[in-house]
Amino acid sequence: MKILIVNAGSSSLKYQLIDMDNEQTLAKGLVERIGMAENGHHECKVNGEKIVDWAEDKIVDHVQGCKMMLAALTDAEKGAVKSMDEISAVGHRVLHGGSKFSESMIINDEVIAAIEENIPLGPLHNPANLMGIKACQEVMPSTPMVAVFDTAFHQTMPPKAYMYGLPYEIYEKHHVRRYGFHGTSHRFVSKRTAEFLGKKPEDLRIITAHLGNGSSLAAVEYGKCVDTSMGLTPLEGVLMGTRSGNLDPAVVEFVCDKENLTVGQMLNLCNKKSGLLGISGISNDMRDVDNAAKEGHPRAQLARDMLVYGIRKYIGSYAAAMNGVDVIVFTAGIGENNYGLREDIMAGFEYMGAKLDKEKNAALAWPNVHEAVISADDSKVLICVIPTNEEIAIARDTLELVSK
Ligand code: ADP
Repeated sequence: MKILIVNAGSSSLKYQLIDMDNEQTLAKGLVERIGMAENGHHECKVNGEKIVDWAEDKIVDHVQGCKMMLAALTDAEKGAVKSMDEISAVGHRVLHGGSKFSESMIINDEVIAAIEENIPLGPLHNPANLMGIKACQEVMPSTPMVAVFDTAFHQTMPPKAYMYGLPYEIYEKHHVRRYGFHGTSHRFVSKRTAEFLGKKPEDLRIITAHLGNGSSLAAVEYGKCVDTSMGLTPLEGVLMGTRSGNLDPAVVEFVCDKENLTVGQMLNLCNKKSGLLGISGISNDMRDVDNAAKEGHPRAQLARDMLVYGIRKYIGSYAAAMNGVDVIVFTAGIGENNYGLREDIMAGFEYMGAKLDKEKNAALAWPNVHEAVISADDSKVLICVIPTNEEIAIARDTLELVSK
């Protein structure tokens, strides 16, 4: 069975076609600059070979983007499938499921209405995700579709973890609370960690550190998420590529006054110009920041130190939240590839029973990244690297739901 995974942004459509018989990616592509005046772009690779690299005309909307995707996938000469009928289902990544969805759902009118209802909570992503869903429905009207929510895994958090200390009516009236994101990754990685260790998730307290361009940590207690670092939006938590992470909310008004910014402009600053980029003044990419820090660039070093310090504080607090921790697992771009950062994050955690094996850790660096235990043999807490795979997680949910 072949399943198509779609991740629609406001002007882009990322897709992957996965053969579920062996979970191999058959094709992968990106349609960009949808809706923009010119320079639309579509790239598609089938079995690693680029079959489309098209950059010329205007791509009017997501429906046109979907048609281009299908045309490439079913290309008579180089396509991954002979016809659209070979695609059994489509799994859509959806950012915000609010409090309604604690698991993935077959898409029907009710689910679409609920994603619409959650637009105020995910104003940038949910409308784009909906455009992707509706466009796919238009070009593949009889193919079943599934929505996989970034927030769903975190729905098991107890109120003491998800509430903000604001007047309760704000929560009741406007659903303002912490939701958390990267749930598909935290779920996939925590489950896979247990499997890899030959244990059951129900027997483990796991801290998952998803460290990429966006970063979040989660406390997964005996198979259930009990806390996570992102909040109402993905802005909360540790320092990220371009996001500030935690701030005293009073900073918003203060900076708005001083810099003559609207709240919207200030949030844009917090989301897009802060974090590693804003502190270092160099880049949002950890590799650039690392290199600059090694060359003695003080602000790059500060950005790196802030990231390490913030992650260490979350690890400590999640160990406290779960009355201990059995496994700490690193994943995503930085978590999987950057052994130097892992070493600095895990330094001095022996008091908690977590001791890194520096050699095992250093052996695990790009391009030699795979599932591994990187703690010392006498470490009570296991430290692991488990590569994430959100597409496979979405494809598995889709397969499960459409097979029911
Ligand atoms: P996204 O959140 O966009 O999915 P990723 O998970 O790809 O992001 O992570 C991007 C981050 O991972 C960047 O800061 C980058 O420096 C880091 N990264 C990616 N690949 C490597 C690598 N091979 N070596 C070191 N760092 C890497």
